[in-house]
Amino acid sequence: MRFFNYIASQWMPSASDRWFPNVNPADTRDIIGEFPRSSAEDVARAVEAARDAFRTWSRTPAPRRGEIIRRAGDIFTRRKDELAAVMTREMGKPLFETKGDIQEAIDTAYYSATETRRLFGYNTPSELPNKLNLSFRMPIGVCGIITAWNFPIAVPSWKIFPALAAGNTVVWKPSDDAPHSAVVFAEILEEAGVPPGVFNVVHGDAEAGAALVEHPDVRVVAFTGSTATGTRIAERCGALNKKVSLEMGGKNAVIIMDDADLDLALDGVLWGAFGTTGQRCTATSRLILHAPIHDRFLDMLSERARSLRIGSGLEADTQMGPVINQRQCDKILGYIRIGQEEGARLIIGGNRLTSGNFAHGYFIEPTIFAGVQPHMRIWREEIFGPVLSVARADSFEHAIALANDSEYGLSSAIYTRSVEYAFAAMRDIEAGITYVNAPTIGAEAHMPFGGIKNTGNGHREGGWTVFDIFTEWKTVYVDFSGRLQRAQIDTAAE
Ligand code: NAD
Repeated sequence: MRFFNYIASQWMPSASDRWFPNVNPADTRDIIGEFPRSSAEDVARAVEAARDAFRTWSRTPAPRRGEIIRRAGDIFTRRKDELAAVMTREMGKPLFETKGDIQEAIDTAYYSATETRRLFGYNTPSELPNKLNLSFRMPIGVCGIITAWNFPIAVPSWKIFPALAAGNTVVWKPSDDAPHSAVVFAEILEEAGVPPGVFNVVHGDAEAGAALVEHPDVRVVAFTGSTATGTRIAERCGALNKKVSLEMGGKNAVIIMDDADLDLALDGVLWGAFGTTGQRCTATSRLILHAPIHDRFLDMLSERARSLRIGSGLEADTQMGPVINQRQCDKILGYIRIGQEEGARLIIGGNRLTSGNFAHGYFIEPTIFAGVQPHMRIWREEIFGPVLSVARADSFEHAIALANDSEYGLSSAIYTRSVEYAFAAMRDIEAGITYVNAPTIGAEAHMPFGGIKNTGNGHREGGWTVFDIFTEWKTVYVDFSGRLQRAQIDTAAE
């Protein structure tokens, strides 16, 4: 079956008639369909449609735009089960997780719709008499949205709904590892009443993404993906004077102190490290155990991780699905080899599963390394798979230093019953997000989301802060004095 780009409310193939297959990572014999491998020409068509639609959409009263976005949330709710199956089939995570992914988009739709009744600017007193100072948030224009595959609906929704709510139009280049979910996203926005050209989808790989970044009529680029790709995009946006928001890699640490509720921590670490098969930007990939509980917790964790049920995400009792593709499978197995060569202790896992039901998928065992030292690559580099690196900390200060010894700074967590440790960690951990007595994953739509260091470039999605990405400020001075008043000069003369 062939799927198409969505441009100006029309479903169309790529101008170059090139296609790529979309494959089920749990069973590579299952080909979901072929999708257009788009070129700069297709991107230009979509951007043109978005540019043409901007004038009318940006002048539509914001709460009216909000009504359409709210309807999209309703339709996502109605199609949740069906879309979850589409998503699981193409990217592998279990159905309960893909339903959560869609719920996040529903929450974001309702949140963004509600914000269309606010979109606050601010007013201040003027320094001159009979003069009024106002400021407004203005839509910017065409937003180019480029996303990864691990949250095929939630992550794009964090960008698309606020961008549309603020009055922008959108061209979205979804990941070529999860394009079917994007097709359903477009169907839903069309049914919700988004006018032609306001929202467009162009499928493809780096070529289409790069063309979107380069197009002169794209004024904002909002990207989620690896730090390597994001950095390249930021360089181009710098040269082209475009606004760019980047959500990139992570290497998130959990600290467990000796006074923690270890059963609670155990559930949190299992979910954080092996949920989505470790393929989350916020996945727990480093575990820092306070020395007094190190051995005990490691035993508890290994036992539970060994018993995780691995399989196709479409099966009801699966707890951990496959990894996304051959490239990623090779990369993860490569890091497992590196960890062993570096001298870390492989506690459990380490293998690809190839027999029986696993024969045609990309399945890797939950893997835990202990004795990991901060100089090791498995401690420093994002693996993006079910691999957890464990280090021992002698003290709270040592634990914080280990957590902060990273080029990334997205999520983090501490398990402790101590108020002193908890508040010091909130202050001292270098990350955009810190959880206390909860895992590193679990963002909510109405709170700022993003990271510091090589995870981001200072923007935050989610919450009110996302509108800083998708709006520009307009400042207006209204002088009703009837005479020339010169700021900075006539004030002094009064
Ligand atoms: P990726 O960087 O390979 O690709 C991301 C997107 O960029 C894809 O749509 C891809 O086609 C496109 N792309 C690739 N090269 C491009 C180029 N030169 N110009 C323009 N677009 C280009 O990332 P991935 O493997 O799809 O996703 C995994 C990464 O995403 C991990 O590093 C993960 O941490 C990160 N991620 C971050 C967040 C976050 O919110 N911080 C969320 C999810 C995933």
